[in-house]
Amino acid sequence: MTTARAVLDRCAELDRFTADAPRLERVYLSREHAGANAVAGRWMEEAGLRSWQDAAGNQCGRREGATPGLPALLVGSHLDTVPDAGSYDGMLGVVMAIAVAERLRDHALPFALEVIGFSDEEGTRFGKALLGSQALAGVWEEDWWDLRDRDGLTLHQAFLDFDLDPRRVGDAARRPDELVGYLEAHIEQGPYLEAADRSLGYVTTIAGARRFRLSFIGEARHAGGTPYPRRRDALVGASEAITLIERRARDSDCIATVGRIEVQPGAINVIPGRADISLDLRAATDGERDAMWASLLAEIEAQCGARGLRLDVRETHRAPAMPCAPWLQEAVVAGIRSTGDDDPIGLWSRAGHDAMAVGLTTDVGMLFVRCHDGISHHPEEDVREYDVAAGLDALEAAVLGVAAQVGART
Ligand SMILES: [Zn+2]
Repeated sequence: MTTARAVLDRCAELDRFTADAPRLERVYLSREHAGANAVAGRWMEEAGLRSWQDAAGNQCGRREGATPGLPALLVGSHLDTVPDAGSYDGMLGVVMAIAVAERLRDHALPFALEVIGFSDEEGTRFGKALLGSQALAGVWEEDWWDLRDRDGLTLHQAFLDFDLDPRRVGDAARRPDELVGYLEAHIEQGPYLEAADRSLGYVTTIAGARRFRLSFIGEARHAGGTPYPRRRDALVGASEAITLIERRARDSDCIATVGRIEVQPGAINVIPGRADISLDLRAATDGERDAMWASLLAEIEAQCGARGLRLDVRETHRAPAMPCAPWLQEAVVAGIRSTGDDDPIGLWSRAGHDAMAVGLTTDVGMLFVRCHDGISHHPEEDVREYDVAAGLDALEAAVLGVAAQVGART
């Protein structure tokens, strides 16, 4: 079961575990999560790994290295999905990791090889992403237990319902000295590899987003009776800001998105007195991202001043970028070279990944696989068998490259 065809078949097999057939939706601590874990665990055993589910619901498999008890190289991705998902975001990386472990089953490696299927990357159920990989990184926070899903069920109760003991979640944590590093293969979720006509790319860094709520506060007045000089229209102010945000981001290396807007009072014949917008801001480095925010804020404040609007800003989320470790980037680059690509492309990941959290406890490296038209988080998500075949060869070579480096150190 080590060919690209077998990998794609297994991705299709995981589609069975869905809460919303024929659409794919598999969220944290659901019956579908348990089903996907069981199947992945069986595949891990067939690949010669000892398999278990950890204290946070991550599905793990391990084969000892040349001597038992060595630190582990983790290889994997996630098994949960967004609503109406495609079949490859996350799952491809888990299934590829299992296939590579199977290919290497007769190799004596200078580390234990572990495959991991993270339980929650998307954060779909409890509104908080990376729960599985944050448990592994040992950064679980007490107040997360009170997070609720859309039925009002707490994360604490969901643990109990899944036969997990919330008091033991710390058992999922891995210390840096237990680990060699983490490698993750993932679909690109963007169009750059396709545009460059490449199967694979290596990741340089994973962007950390900053998210804001911007409130434009004006004055609600009669739509007919209020002449323009007396209007303080919050929605027009917000609209000006939205187009400014897009213009500035287009002219830079940043990505900025306004995905939500709320208008009050929201009546056809009343000038909007208040408009709230969201802003999601990303860049390759935190410095570029923060500089963009500072200049956007100054310009939006000036626009508001000219319109007699008050601007309130609240930061709702902030994550630092997670750079991939240079030595693991090199291993991934060498892996891609081994497939015949002499000049591998490096990309910064605009999307978040488990590697962001795992990077808090060990070095991380990522391999991107081309996906059709950059489509992801959508049922039309697609990969080519040819690219997956190259990806398997590259990931296997990258693991062997890590082995050569670790072997030389010891
Ligand atoms: Zn993903």
